[in-house]
Amino acid sequence: MKSLLNLPLHYQILIALIVGSLLGIAFKPPVVTPQNIVGTVQIENGDFVLSETGDGGKTYFQTTIKATPDDPDKQMGELERRFDAVAEVIKAAPGQSEYTYTISDPSVQLISERNSITIRYVREQEGKQAISSIKAASRDTLIKEHPAWVSFYDEQSQDWRHILVLGAKALGDIFLSLLKMVTIPLIVTSLISGITGLGSSSQFGRMFGRTLLYYLCTSVLAITTGLIMVNLIQPGVGAILPGGGEIVAGENESLAGVFLGLVDKLIPTNIVEALANADFLSIIFFSILFGIFTIYAGGKTAEFITKMANSGFEVMMRMTMGIIHLAPLGVLAFMYYATATQGLDIFITLSWYMLAVFMALLFHAAVVLPLILKFVAKTSPLAFAKAMSPALMTAFSTASSNATLPLTITSVEQRGKVSNKVSSFVLPLGATINMDGTALYEAVAVLFIAQATPGIDLIIMDQILVAVTALLASVGAAGIPHAGLVMMAIVLQAVGLPLEAQGIIIAVDRVLDMCRTTVNVWSDSCGCAVIDRFESGTTGSTDEVLIAGEG
Ligand code: ASP
Repeated sequence: MKSLLNLPLHYQILIALIVGSLLGIAFKPPVVTPQNIVGTVQIENGDFVLSETGDGGKTYFQTTIKATPDDPDKQMGELERRFDAVAEVIKAAPGQSEYTYTISDPSVQLISERNSITIRYVREQEGKQAISSIKAASRDTLIKEHPAWVSFYDEQSQDWRHILVLGAKALGDIFLSLLKMVTIPLIVTSLISGITGLGSSSQFGRMFGRTLLYYLCTSVLAITTGLIMVNLIQPGVGAILPGGGEIVAGENESLAGVFLGLVDKLIPTNIVEALANADFLSIIFFSILFGIFTIYAGGKTAEFITKMANSGFEVMMRMTMGIIHLAPLGVLAFMYYATATQGLDIFITLSWYMLAVFMALLFHAAVVLPLILKFVAKTSPLAFAKAMSPALMTAFSTASSNATLPLTITSVEQRGKVSNKVSSFVLPLGATINMDGTALYEAVAVLFIAQATPGIDLIIMDQILVAVTALLASVGAAGIPHAGLVMMAIVLQAVGLPLEAQGIIIAVDRVLDMCRTTVNVWSDSCGCAVIDRFESGTTGSTDEVLIAGEG
């Protein structure tokens, strides 16, 4: 044990990552496979009432698709979108008051967290896969809204593996809370100390321009890679998307609305409120202005503020490094949770789609960004990746750029030897608006849905529209888990695709989110090396990038 603790931090985290995944596979909460379920559709007052009932009259699933007397096609359209195998059965013999359909390969899994219960029910309706998620905030809501599932929940929630999952999630959340605790003071002190350290506002303006240019170029390169990959692999052609998905995001989310919201967020009318709500953009904007005007104020005032910011920053860095020692524990807990709660069936159904996202992310992270590091930042990609590994692995396991930010800042500065002047600015802003992985993912996912939707063919102009909206969606997405999935509604709407298809890919979103978040953090880090090269002439010889201060 002692020698394990003496290992360098990145090895400790790597071991935690592997052990957590293996534990998740070995001690997965049981997946129940009920037998003899039959599906029926009853027509009651024009409504389609679908129910799937098993032995002893136990209801596994029930939903109603309301009649739409003004527009009869609408009801059938809705049924087709959500359960098209069932729609086929009705269309084959219209006019009856009851229909039955076959259910095969059913499996049910409970995924519960402290404040939410999800029951994932996967089965084939007439040979076609359908997935439904039954969600409730607590056992009481489950009793009220989904009484059929209470006995299943009571039985499953007692299983020790299930209790272990809850425990792992709670442990991981403690680590996340600690990281979140230091993030805001770290950003504020780091930005003010970095900008006052620049000494002139014109230097800041130059760095600002370069940083935005870097964000834009890498995001566009990432989207292009994604589009090429999805057109090459064509994961959606011939894919039959499972039915039953739910809509993830609000339908009214418009591009203009999102961007007005962003501008609103940029300028805080009340900085205390912005701090309390952890509005990253507002806090960054205010801190930058504070830093710049400190330079303008000059003299004793500037000296005093700079000293204070530097001291505050030093303390926050130390506090962060203390917390980072817990990273292996947090990573272990999150990896256990992630692997234990993923269903394998859906992975197989969506394997080509996942492969396309994964290959495109890999190309961007392992070819495009390293080339930029090598030729623009003039630094060794391998050594820099090794320096950044604690942050990258934490990003992978937590799926949150924001939560990883304290690790990204410490890794870039302490291990990557990038100056605080650069990282204090490039990283917090990057965590919020520079998301190469997310932008790429939006493009691949939307094209996948388009390929799998009959009658839709996205020509080159549409694909350009996808690229532009994907870029904007990635800028608008927050650095938190699943944010990219929520923002996808905007891209889907831009090219007129059904939002329902999103409900299916949510089943594999956690894994893809882990991968794209790692790429998001990696791109921000590479950005630091690039900007640092121009700001200071050189990043230092990163062939010996230091893995100092760890152990
Ligand atoms: N989870 C991602 C991040 O934090 C955002 C996304 O969902 O794509 O960077």
